[in-house]
This record gives sequence, C-alpha cells and structure tokens, in this order.
Amino acid sequence: MSDGMVSITVAAPQVRRTRQARAAWGANVVTIGGDAPVRVQSMTNTDTVDAVGTAIQVKELALAGSELVRITVNTPEAAQAVPYVREQLDRMGIDVPLIGDFHYNGHRLLTEYPACAEALSKYRINPGNVGKGDKRDRQFGQMIEAAIRWQKPVRIGVNWGSLDQELLAQLMDANGRRAQPWDARQVMYEALITSAVESARRAEEMGLDGSQIILSCKVSGVQDLISVYRELARRCDYALHLGLTEAGMGTKGTVASSAALSVLLQEGIGDTIRVSLTPQPGESRTQEVLIASEILQSLGLRMFVPSVTACPGCGRTTSTTFQELAKQIDDFLREQMPVWRARYPGVEALKVAVMGCIVNGPGESKHADIGISLPGTGEAPAAPVFIDGEKALTLRGDNIAQEFHQLVQSYIDKRFGPGSSGA
Ligand code: SF4
Repeated sequence: MSDGMVSITVAAPQVRRTRQARAAWGANVVTIGGDAPVRVQSMTNTDTVDAVGTAIQVKELALAGSELVRITVNTPEAAQAVPYVREQLDRMGIDVPLIGDFHYNGHRLLTEYPACAEALSKYRINPGNVGKGDKRDRQFGQMIEAAIRWQKPVRIGVNWGSLDQELLAQLMDANGRRAQPWDARQVMYEALITSAVESARRAEEMGLDGSQIILSCKVSGVQDLISVYRELARRCDYALHLGLTEAGMGTKGTVASSAALSVLLQEGIGDTIRVSLTPQPGESRTQEVLIASEILQSLGLRMFVPSVTACPGCGRTTSTTFQELAKQIDDFLREQMPVWRARYPGVEALKVAVMGCIVNGPGESKHADIGISLPGTGEAPAAPVFIDGEKALTLRGDNIAQEFHQLVQSYIDKRFGPGSSGA
C-alpha cells in the first residue's frame, strides 16, 4: 500500500447550454433545455383509443412526477381519441402536456386530424419511420408543417431499432471507400447522429425554430448510449432527450438506465429523461417515473420527495423492526407527496433517518432533519429521536413506529406548513 495522500475531487456537473423548447398545456408550460431543470417524462402503455383508460394512466404518471407524458398515436381512431384524452385530463385537473408518438403515418394523422394536432403539446417524429425514397422528405415535411402551424415543439427521436436504412447503407458505402474503414459500430453511431442532426437542420430550413426541436438517439447498450450522446452533444446545441431504449425489466433495466444516464447527466448532457422500463407483471407503470426522479435526486440535480436514509442492517440488529419502519416512513412520504407539494412548499428537501443500532444511528440521525436510532440486539429497548441535529426525546414501548410517524408529521407541519419560516 502506498503511504502517500489520496485526494478525492468531486466533479461538479458541467452546465451545457442548449436551446430551450417549451411544451405547454393551459397554464402549465414545461421548459426543456437551457437552464431549465432536467425534466422527467414517461409514456403510457394503454391503447389510446381507450381515451378514459389512457387518461387515467396519464394521471397516475403525472401524479407520480412525470412532467410530460407521451401517448401512442398510431391509427385514425387513436388520433380521434386524443382530444378526448385531453378533455378527460382537463376535467380531472391534470394539466400535464401530452406528447404524440408518431411512426409511419404521422404525416397523415397530423394533417387529417387537426383536433389531435392541436390537443397535443409536442410531437415525436422518428426519421427512420417517415417513409422511403422520395416520400420520405415529403412526409417528414408534412409533420414539420403541422408543428409550425400549431406552434408545437417536436422531438426528432432516432432509435437504432428503426434507423434510416438508406442513410446507414450510404454511410457503410462511404466507409468502405475509406483508407482505414471504421468498425461497424462506429458507422452505426454516425448514422444515428447524422439522422438526428440532418433531420433537425431540414426542419429548421422549413421554418421550424431551432428552439422548438429536441433530439434523441436511443440505443440499448450503456456504453453505446454514452458514446453516441457525447458526440451528439458535441455536434449540436439542440435540447436533448436522454434514455436507454428497451432498458429491460426490474433490476437490470433500473441499473442500466441509472448507469448510462448518470454518466451523461454528470457531464451536463441531457435536458429531459425517460427510463424505458418493462413493467414486471402487475407492476405499476409509475415505477419508471420513480426511478427517473430518483436518478436526478441522487445526482443532486432535482428534489422530488423527502429522502429516507436507512442503514442496511447487519449482525448487530437481528429484528426487522427498523426495516419495517424505514419502509413505512418511505411509503408514507411518497404517498403524501401529491398533496404535500401544494400544502408544504419545500418539503421535498426533508431528510429522515431510520437507523438500526447505536453504531451509526445517532450520528446519521443528527445529519438528518429528523432521525431515529432503533435499538440493536442487546441494546436497551429505547429509541432516541434527533430533530435538527439535537436529541429531542426517546421513544420506548410497543408504539415506537406510530409515535415516530406522528413526530415526522408534526415536524413537517411546523417547518413547512402555512405560517412556517420554510426550509
Ligand atoms: S447502524 Fe448498526 S445495525 Fe445499521 S448497519 Fe450500522 S452497525 Fe449495523
């Protein structure tokens, strides 16, 4: 082992200036890019023709923290349903902007169903799926004309699963003529980036303001995504939508998305994110919103919900009491947030600690706004509670969990409620 000093530097995220796009509905204007916070977005998995079912899922996603929600618009029936989805949401008081996801026939749907084009707040266009040969430019142009007519931003969203094959073939041919050809992966990166950037330039030439354009180049490999976005960010200043496509299920999808997005966000790349998680059977669609929010909160870029610090437990605590209490508190805070956002401004910055024994319990609890150190195996059956860094009281008996709940609630009332001095 070296006996030299080790110095650790924490790199601050760089702020990359991007153009700002605005997706709006009613009074809710969501700014993407520039100095705006990195936005969380998600997508429904309902059939849009089922306007009520779609509106209910959009509402769930919005209440979970999705600031924009994308819906599939794939048929005339779906396009006809879009205004009704919007209407249902308005009736429920949900003003989240809706994004229409178009492939193959978007040019027709946006032209033939003006109420759909108007009800949406943003259009997603996939340049790999707008048509082939001479139809391609015309059909892409029709979608851009709709965006200009209705004053909507667009995301030009390239995906390696539906990459423009004509462009890829051209780049492959050009690569074959190089003295030292790139490897196939490098050519694929180039095709993704070229497709996005050239489509955006074409949209600008048609008259769409560059500040109304957001780009994405989605792939399913972590290293591929990092390489592609670094290069995309270097080549343009459009706002960027970040996400791993087909991230997968459960732990794999969560970890892969967190790894890829964190690296890029830390470098200041990315203005809005989506975690494309395949829900486990029976799992709520909102899981992807919670993970996206958690990525931003873990990086210190946004605050969404109060955080609960809990120790992992070890041989010093053989009961599950602290695990149960940590989960109950975490669930309680998350469940209350839709109401608390309005009632307790700033509550998302609250820090709660639930610790398993005396080793780190008091210390960690003092760092939190309110914390409890539960008794480990062999310790006296007493749980000191720390508020604002000071030991405030000790809980004993069978109702520790319930009493701690009440203490957290009254702390929130006092600190964040009406008439409080705030956070
Ligand atoms: S605080 Fe105590 S119970 Fe929790 S991990 Fe540390 S030593 Fe183990």
